[in-house]
Amino acid sequence: MIELTYIAAPSYSGSTLLTFLLNSHPDIATVGELKWGTIDTGTYRCSCGDRLIDCAFWLSIKARVEQKGLPFDFERPPTDFRLHNKSIGDRLMRARNRGTTFEAMRKTALSILPKCRKRMETARNVNKAAMEAILFLQKGRILLDASKDPVRLMHLINTGDYNVRVLHLLRDGRGVMNSTIKKKGLDAETAAHDWAHTHRQIERLAARLHDGTYRQVRYEDLCRNAPIECESIFAFLGLDPGKAALSMEDVPHHILGNAMRLGSINAIKLDESWRNELDDRSGRIFESVAGVQNRRYGYV
Ligand SMILES: [Zn+2]
Repeated sequence: MIELTYIAAPSYSGSTLLTFLLNSHPDIATVGELKWGTIDTGTYRCSCGDRLIDCAFWLSIKARVEQKGLPFDFERPPTDFRLHNKSIGDRLMRARNRGTTFEAMRKTALSILPKCRKRMETARNVNKAAMEAILFLQKGRILLDASKDPVRLMHLINTGDYNVRVLHLLRDGRGVMNSTIKKKGLDAETAAHDWAHTHRQIERLAARLHDGTYRQVRYEDLCRNAPIECESIFAFLGLDPGKAALSMEDVPHHILGNAMRLGSINAIKLDESWRNELDDRSGRIFESVAGVQNRRYGYV
C-alpha cells in the first residue's frame, strides 16, 4: 500500500503554498498536482525551471511508468479519471460526490460500461506507477498529491491501493470567491456555489475515512505561522518535524500547478486583498449561498 496524503480544497485556497512547505520534509515526495489538463509542452515549465519535457526528473518518471507497459504522455497523461469526450460515461466519472445510492450506481455503471472500465483501470495503474516512481526517485515515504479535486480523491480511495490521509485546506470563502471571479471570470453566484459544493464533497468523503486520517488546515494559520502549523501537520502525518528544512529554496522541487517561486519561509504573506476588492453585491451573494458554511469553518 502506498502512503498517500491528499490536499483537498477548492482552487485558490493556498494549496501550492502548502505543497512547497510540506515538500521541505525529506520523507515527503511530491510533484504537486498529479493530474493536469492539456498543456502546451513547448512552453510549460516544471518548478525546477526546465521545460517539463526537458526535466530529467520528469523524463525518469515517464520512463519508469512506460517500463510497466503503461502510457504516459506529457501533454495529457492518463492520471485523471476522465474520458474527455462529454459522453455519459465521462460525466459519470467526473460527477460530484453524492450520497450512497448515487455512489453505488456510479460504481456499478463504471464497471459495466467498457470504455469507462478500461479508462478507470488505466488511470488506476498509471497513478500507482507514477506515485511509486516519484517515491523512489525522491526517496520519500509519503506521496503528497495536491490535486485538490474531491472526485479524484474518491476514485483514488476506491482503488484500495492507498493508505489515505486527507489535508482539508480551508480559506475564508470570500477570499476564494474573489480569486475565482478575478482569475476564472466566473460570476459571484457560481463561484460561491463552487466553493460550497467542493467543501461539502470533501466532508462527505471525510466521513468515510478512518479515525485519525483527516485534518483541517487553515490557509490563514499557515501564512501567519508556517513553522508551527507545519510542525503540527508533520506530526499528524507521523513524521519527525525536526527533519524538515522548512526552506523552499534549498530543497529541490519538480512541482506542477501554480508557478510559485518563494525565496524563504519569511516571504510568505497572507493574501487578504479580497477585503478591499470584493464588492457589496458579491459579498451579499456569498452570504446567501455560503455564509453559514463559512462561519461553521470559523470565518466571521
Ligand atoms: Zn523539474
